Amino acid sequence: MNLFELIRRAIPSRDKVFLETGAGAAMTYGDMLARSAQLANILVLSGVEPGDRVAAQVEKSAENLLLYLATLRAGAVYLPLNTAYTPAELDYFIGDSEPKLFVCDPAKRAALAPIAEKHGVTALETLDANGKGSLTDAADGAPKDFADVPREDDDLAAILYTSGTTGRSKGAMLTHRNLSSNAQVLVDYWRFTDRDVLLHALPVYHTHGLFVASNTVMLSGGSMIWLSKFDADEVMRHLPRATSMMGVPTFYTRLLKHPGLTREACAHMRLFTSGSAPLLAETHIEFKQRTGHAILERYGMTETNMNTSNPYDGDRIAGTVGFPLPGVELRIADPETGRVLPQGDVGGIEVRGPNVFSGYWRMPEKTKSEFRADGFFITGDVGKIDERGYVHIVGRAKDLIITGGFNVYPKEIESEIDALPGVVESAVIGCPHPDFGEGVTAVVVCKPGATLTEKSIVTELEQRLARFKLPKRVIFVADLPRNSMGKVQKNVLREQNASIYDNAARKQPA
Ligand code: AMP
Repeated sequence: MNLFELIRRAIPSRDKVFLETGAGAAMTYGDMLARSAQLANILVLSGVEPGDRVAAQVEKSAENLLLYLATLRAGAVYLPLNTAYTPAELDYFIGDSEPKLFVCDPAKRAALAPIAEKHGVTALETLDANGKGSLTDAADGAPKDFADVPREDDDLAAILYTSGTTGRSKGAMLTHRNLSSNAQVLVDYWRFTDRDVLLHALPVYHTHGLFVASNTVMLSGGSMIWLSKFDADEVMRHLPRATSMMGVPTFYTRLLKHPGLTREACAHMRLFTSGSAPLLAETHIEFKQRTGHAILERYGMTETNMNTSNPYDGDRIAGTVGFPLPGVELRIADPETGRVLPQGDVGGIEVRGPNVFSGYWRMPEKTKSEFRADGFFITGDVGKIDERGYVHIVGRAKDLIITGGFNVYPKEIESEIDALPGVVESAVIGCPHPDFGEGVTAVVVCKPGATLTEKSIVTELEQRLARFKLPKRVIFVADLPRNSMGKVQKNVLREQNASIYDNAARKQPA
């Protein structure tokens, strides 16, 4: 079934507030139906047929969300693109996905028109941060009714490109079933109802803001406070009217720096969730102390939607991502052989379920190599399941360090360093080493006034870690590099420190 049909069925009444912008403008569900119909009519007039891609590189606005809904209604495939992508990068995405319609910011139109033309895009329209542009101008005069195009569960609803830190970005093909099944599970698991008001400050070119947050609210008939970006003052201003917020860890570290964050300020809230990157246990604990709320951490990815979640009732354990969601099978396997490992062992996380994507766009070989014969998807994350069934993420397989033939999981070293007094956070990476292949290298952010040194950190760690796990170098930085979803960019750190061991002595052969 078309996901939009499920969204339509969840509408409590046409007068119910669907979305309110930061500036206070309100849109009802009735407005949403009328406006998305107008946009769907324009898509069809632009030549978009069922199955065609509609690509959008636009700033977050209410109209941006409506464009997504209009694409679903037209039976087309929504393809959001990170606003940070340059024209050179867009050349690849547009060439690879061959959209029928491409919607961009008016300021970028001139630079992108030749790219659209080169790749045979039929229509190029614009939409700015205020929801104005040639697309919405055209929609203003269009009919407010639209006969939604029926879709099968396995038809594509969206393609989202992965961030591509390890090579070419890949387009993850997501079906109507992938999106609707996951959103329905989250509505139940996180107890969303039409009384919910979600504070939405995430970007909407990524699975977290677009699907986890928006689809879940829409399938519960709730409302959203739609902020163009995360700003701690803005969030604090709206908190008293909100019931829930979904965030990346940096939202919470920034809120903790806000003097207004108190129990009273959060009295109306029932749920804070975190994901897309690991939440430091310290952040979880501090947030609980300040507000009384235990942040609910969950784990998912572009290809799989949400896989696990800490419980709504029951212990939300810092440093874990909780249990597999209903309908999601999760196992820990040997990355090489695929053999399922005993409970407690660290290995590759593999998942199977209606949430898991149907493959990478136009990459059948890549798709094949990422799935096991029995249908489990190899996530590339490394983790374990503890005795209570909670899943722990230890890191990405590609972040594993192999030093002198020994495997070192960065998370283990990071946890030890983070626990030292004076440390805010750390990232442990492997850098080319003439002797060991890779040298364990710690990049550390200290609290103001801390007097830690390379030597003091290594001395502390010596008490706790085997010798081969000890950092050979400790580098101090003011901040760790992060992408827009708050993920630490270890590839950037590896590049910056690529030659750190160039002068390290090479051992004489024995
Ligand atoms: P993306 O496809 O951009 O959503 O990135 C997905 C990746 O983010 C996963 O494969 C994990 O490596 C990471 N991730 C997501 N949620 C969490 C979490 N709660 N803790 C640790 N890593 C996470």
